Amino acid sequence: MTLEQWKQELKENYEETVAWRRHMHAHPEPSFEEEETARFIKGKLESFGIDDIQTDVGNGHGIVAKIKGSHPGPTIALRADFDALRVNEEVDSPFKSTKPGVMHACGHDGHTASLLSVAKVMAKRQEELHGNIVLIHQHAEEVLPGGAKSMVEAGALKEVDYVFGIHLGSTEPLNTVYYNWQYGSANSDSFTLKIQGKGGHGAAPHDTHDALTVGTQIVTNLQQIVSRMTDPVKPAVLTFAGFQSGGEAYNIIADTTEIKGTVRTLHADIQELVEGKLKSMSEHIAAAYDATIDLIYTRGYPAIENTPEVVEKVQESLLSSFPEEEVAEVKESMGGEDFAYFLKDKPGAFLRVGACPPGKTDAYPHHHPKFEIDERSLLRSGEVFLTLIDTYLQG
Ligand code: MN
Repeated sequence: MTLEQWKQELKENYEETVAWRRHMHAHPEPSFEEEETARFIKGKLESFGIDDIQTDVGNGHGIVAKIKGSHPGPTIALRADFDALRVNEEVDSPFKSTKPGVMHACGHDGHTASLLSVAKVMAKRQEELHGNIVLIHQHAEEVLPGGAKSMVEAGALKEVDYVFGIHLGSTEPLNTVYYNWQYGSANSDSFTLKIQGKGGHGAAPHDTHDALTVGTQIVTNLQQIVSRMTDPVKPAVLTFAGFQSGGEAYNIIADTTEIKGTVRTLHADIQELVEGKLKSMSEHIAAAYDATIDLIYTRGYPAIENTPEVVEKVQESLLSSFPEEEVAEVKESMGGEDFAYFLKDKPGAFLRVGACPPGKTDAYPHHHPKFEIDERSLLRSGEVFLTLIDTYLQG
């Protein structure tokens, strides 16, 4: 059997794949609460005749299923996440979210439907496989600590040689397959900085230590970290996303300020530097104005680091499987993605597949209430998985 025949069968299952995606889209469940979705996935896998299925893997509803090939060979893992976000959907469609405040606004419903369609094609083709396929249906990608790390700790990759994941992109052109040579996503950290001053009467500033002006000094001065202190060829982002101070009256000087934000980096030394400077500069600035700080810094998902040798092999396969203009290298994203934990454990690659309809120039980004994908991307992402299976398991 050839890859082209697998692709043909995938195409024949397209309507059904879309129906699965729409079902999940209409019934989204937020991270760590994906009970029904996990049940749905398990039911589908069983209906394809797959009997090696582990449920509740890791710290939630993770699923690990195995399609064992008839011939010896390597084992590859294919991962799709299945959690939704706490976002209120604003897209009107026949399959609009039926749950107020919860929406598949990152395309994980598409990832899951696409991997299920691949499972359906391959479940009957064990005699064609020189090696094994591990299907990783991962819960809780969107909320720390995420599901991936715990699934790895539970042994999801124990017998796996290579691991692959795909993310759909709402603003990237339909059918384009993207790869990174090394980094795919960023170390995604968050922080809360509390400034303690001394409040008082708005007419007597000399009797206070104004926490609001201290906060503004910190926000302004810490812009220098990225512009003056980090190596310009190593990316860093320091975003102040929230600032709460005073506000009860026009004549009261603020006692405290609370600032929230995120730090994104690729390299460990830059992550270290930004975290350290965030603390020491805030401390010194606050001290200069007789205030104190309390910094809570949380390291989030690490950066995705692809395996260059694997990417090289995958790039070659993609180029032989798809038109050349539909395969492209892409710059690393400074977003966060817990697939990073799988790549910390085993070699592999994380790919992206464009899901923006041709000609559309105003597509909404991920996590937006008006987020949408072109469902034809489900077929392409399935074809990418089949290409990887063909590359590693065709003997
Ligand atoms: Mn996502």
